[in-house]
Amino acid sequence: MASTDPHDLVRQALAGDRRSLARAITRVELRDPGVAASVAAARVRRREGPGAPHVVGITGPPGAGKSTLVDRLIGHALDAGQRAAVVAVDPSSPFSGGAILGDRVRMERHTGDDRVYIRSLSSRGHLGGLSSATSEVVDLLDAAGFDLVLVETVGVGQSELGVMEVADTVIVVLTPESGDAVQAMKAGLMEIADLFVVNKADRPGAEALVRELRRSVELDEGSSWKAVVRAVSAAEGRGVDEAFRDAAAHLAWCLGDGRGAWERRRGDARVRLYLDLVAEDARAGAAARLDADLDAAIRAGRISPHDAARGGR
Ligand code: GDP
Repeated sequence: MASTDPHDLVRQALAGDRRSLARAITRVELRDPGVAASVAAARVRRREGPGAPHVVGITGPPGAGKSTLVDRLIGHALDAGQRAAVVAVDPSSPFSGGAILGDRVRMERHTGDDRVYIRSLSSRGHLGGLSSATSEVVDLLDAAGFDLVLVETVGVGQSELGVMEVADTVIVVLTPESGDAVQAMKAGLMEIADLFVVNKADRPGAEALVRELRRSVELDEGSSWKAVVRAVSAAEGRGVDEAFRDAAAHLAWCLGDGRGAWERRRGDARVRLYLDLVAEDARAGAAARLDADLDAAIRAGRISPHDAARGGR
């Protein structure tokens, strides 16, 4: 039986009870302070350094083949004797109704395998910041002993870039159809990518995109790690071994020469988490203060939202 006491629930989740893990994650999504405190008190290995678990972020436009690649990477991890978890972060707004990551069919061949845990996180139904919730869920999976944690999200906006800060290694998946390197640069993907997977390499245009990305990476003076560009056909399984090795090479760099860069990224993520949590609290406080009178006054325009926010009513 999954416990309702947050401490017991997290303890059972960490001991390997999957029902408790699922419930604990739901309560992280709902911002349950008791569960948050228990996760904070757990032994989270990644606080000490990268690699245990290896947290790999996977982002890119819808349809690029992220889920197909994730499925392949899970297979690799299992072959290497590892336990793998997937957090699929769905940033779709509560109003769009689109379940961008709702189709988990391609990963179903791993469901029922108790070395694999797959979970979607959605911004629907709760106000919490997605990056803070993702970070806490990754902490939970870390403490539960997973070796590889894949965080998958659709790369379309700033919030997804924030979600990617949780990762040691970020894979950006592009395809010949998804546009050129200039578009990737505009979307902020250039700065966050440690590895570009040019997927659907079985289709025309992939080689040109690989060349173009390599040129852009060469021009990028800013970072000490030069992003690897890898042609892959996730559907056919080609290039996946290489991509897996590229990700491992990046992790080895994080543990060695890249430790400083890794620490900086981790610092950025911690500051973002702090700001997210403060923003969530502030919003919850403001919602609690929004009584019927104030609500009516704002609606009728008797007080401007700006004045109300500043407390001048
Ligand atoms: P996601 O939205 O980024 O998760 O993309 P999916 O993994 O759902 O893949 C989108 C579509 O592209 C599916 O129909 C896949 O079968 C297909 N697809 C994925 N990888 C490849 C590939 O390497 N080559 C080709 N031709 N199709 C692929």
